Amino acid sequence: MNTKYLSVDKNVDSLDTYPQILEAASLLQKNEVVAFPTETVYGLGGNANSDEAVAKIYEAKGRPSDNPLIIHIGEVEQIYSFVEEIPGHAQKLMEVFWPGPLTIIFKKKDGELSKKATAGLSTVAVRMPDHPVARAIIKASRLPIAAPSANRSGKPSPTTAQHVRDDLDGRIAAIVDGGPTGIGVESTVLDCTTEIPVILRPGGISREQIEEIIGEVAVDPALANEGEAPRSPGMKYTHYAPEAPLFLVKGGPEAIRQLIREKKQQGLTVGVLTTEENVSSYDADVVLACGKRASLETVAGRLYEVLREFNTTSVDIIFSETFPREGVGEAIMNRLLKAAGNKVIE
Ligand code: AMP
Ligand code: MG
Repeated sequence: MNTKYLSVDKNVDSLDTYPQILEAASLLQKNEVVAFPTETVYGLGGNANSDEAVAKIYEAKGRPSDNPLIIHIGEVEQIYSFVEEIPGHAQKLMEVFWPGPLTIIFKKKDGELSKKATAGLSTVAVRMPDHPVARAIIKASRLPIAAPSANRSGKPSPTTAQHVRDDLDGRIAAIVDGGPTGIGVESTVLDCTTEIPVILRPGGISREQIEEIIGEVAVDPALANEGEAPRSPGMKYTHYAPEAPLFLVKGGPEAIRQLIREKKQQGLTVGVLTTEENVSSYDADVVLACGKRASLETVAGRLYEVLREFNTTSVDIIFSETFPREGVGEAIMNRLLKAAGNKVIE
C-alpha cells in the first residue's frame, strides 16, 4: 500500500475546509485508516462503526485483538449514540477536561459501534482530543473514530509524523503531519462505571487534577503491584521498549556512574537517559537528555523520542534516572517501568 503524506499547518484558521483535512476525513469514511496528531501522541484512526476499519487498525499495528481502542469524538453529542449513561462525576470531568488528555470509561449502549473496537467489552473508552487537526478531521468525518497510538505494537508511541512513518509506512492509507505533539504521553484512562472512579492508566491529566474536581479517586492496584491482572487490558502488554535492555536506577547520578564503570570494564557500550541538568555528569558512550528535570512536562514531551533515539545508537545497555511520581511524573514512571520491563536497580 502506498501511504499518502498530508501536511497540515495546525495554526491556520480555516482547518474545517482545508483540503488535506477533507481528504483524511474522506479516507476515514471509506473505512481506510489514517494517522493524525493529537495533543498527546499521534493516533491511528479508523471508523469506529466499521468492523473492516477497526480490523485494519489492529492489523497495521500488530495489536492483540483483546486490547480495546479509545473512541475519539469531535463533539460531545456524538457520545449519546454509544454510551448508556453519563454518571455525575464523569459529567463534571468532561466539562473541565474535555477536550483534553482524559479518557473516560462508560457503560456501552448497544448500537452501531463495532464490537471489535471495544474488544467485546460491555464498556467503552471515550476521549475528545484537544488538537485542532485531530478535532477537524473527526468533525469532517462525522464519525466516532477509534484511535490507538500510531506505532507498531510494543514500540514507543509516536510523537512526530516521522516516527509514524518509521513504523507504519506502506501499512496505512495516510499520515497527516501536523508537527510534533505537545504532551508526549498518552491520556489518563479513568473508569467511571463505578461509584468511585478508578485510574487504570496514568497520563496527561494527573490524579491531583482529577481529585480537585470530584474528590478522591482510586488507582488500579495492578499499577503498583505487577502480580495483579490490570483492568485495562492494554496495560498487561510490554510497551515502549528500546532494543537494548533498559534499567531504572534509584540512588541518583553516583549510582549510575558506578554502573557505567562496571559495564565499561566488561566491554559493554553504555547509554544513559538523563535530563538537561545532568548531561555532563556521565562518562557513558551515549548520554541523551530527556527534557528538564525541573519541569516534568518537558520530560514527558521528549520521553518516547529519546527511547526511539537509543535504537539509532549501538548501546548494549541503558541506565535511566527515575522521576518523582507527582503530577505527570506518575505517567512518566509508569511508561519507563514498562519500557524497562520493570527492571529496577535499587
Ligand atoms: P492506546 O490507545 O493504545 O493508548 O491504549 C488505550 C488504553 O485504554 C489501553 O490500555 C486499553 O486497554 C484501555 N481501554 C480501552 N477501552 C477500555 C475499556 N473499555 N476498559 C478498560 N480499558 C480500556
Ligand atoms: Mg499505544
